[in-house]
Amino acid sequence: MALALDSSIKLASGHSIPRLGYGVYQARSTECENGVKDALKSGYRHIDSAQAYHNEDIVGRAVAASGVARSEVFLTTKYMPSHQVIPASDVYSVIQKSLKRIDNGGRYIDLMLIHAPFGGEQGRKNNWEALAKAQKEGWIRDIGVSNFGVPHLKSLPAPKPSINQIELHPFCQQREIVTYCQAQGIAVQAYSPLIRADKDRYKNPVLVGIAEKYKKEVAQVLIRWSLQKGYIPLPKSVTPSRIKSNAEICDFELDADDMKALDGLDEGAKGACTWNPVDQA
Ligand code: NDP
Repeated sequence: MALALDSSIKLASGHSIPRLGYGVYQARSTECENGVKDALKSGYRHIDSAQAYHNEDIVGRAVAASGVARSEVFLTTKYMPSHQVIPASDVYSVIQKSLKRIDNGGRYIDLMLIHAPFGGEQGRKNNWEALAKAQKEGWIRDIGVSNFGVPHLKSLPAPKPSINQIELHPFCQQREIVTYCQAQGIAVQAYSPLIRADKDRYKNPVLVGIAEKYKKEVAQVLIRWSLQKGYIPLPKSVTPSRIKSNAEICDFELDADDMKALDGLDEGAKGACTWNPVDQA
């Protein structure tokens, strides 16, 4: 079936997640509020926030004021773990605070992730236990992880995470993690899918050549590559024209040769542009 802006993937819970997300890292106050409203106007139905971004409440307010029903919008937030082992009951108290902030009605969160694999194996288990309890109680629909490498995923107790959110773009393809997640039925979200608009990367001749061929922007090619790989990209912008253009990705399809050429840009961990703590002990 052709890709549409409202295309979605079914998660472990049976709930669906829209294929294209809108990231709000480093988006603050009015620019975050306006960004979320613009994104919803442009057809995005999935917002990616985190406790560490300090904008869950702004996202919640923007969704409530947008005129789009809460039930139409998929809201993600993340718990930022400590490097110490924290009891599951304490983690539970911290994640509870997200509910009223990001869901204006305080009813449910679509997806909560453990932001990073910090805390060692026992810490990760406790964090996961807290999320699993919230999911069992019904106020978090899906639970998942972020920046988890294969050993982290393998040692995590049940239930299986619905999602692993990792840095993912042609220069950093995390092949081992992606292969493992796909084999396990864990959906893969791609963060920093625009390579944080890195000036040098945006001059890469393969990227520029493909963008010219389709009369599209480099950013649109990157988002399209991610979607065609089966990932859930989370492009971030607070610029109204870019919020709109980043969603104009359903009117072209990269052919097999172009996908192969983009696959060939992988530089492994060296290609990462952000913190990428997937190898954390
Ligand atoms: P992105 O790869 O999405 O790049 C964002 C940058 O690209 C901004 O500077 C933005 O500028 C610019 N930009 C946006 N659209 C365009 C365009 N069409 N042309 C040129 N430049 C453009 O980076 P992020 O690191 O923000 O990743 C996206 C999201 O992923 C985050 O917002 C967050 O939700 C998530 N994330 C998760 C992490 C995790 O550990 N789980 C880590 C990092 C990100 P401007 O805003 O000024 O338009």
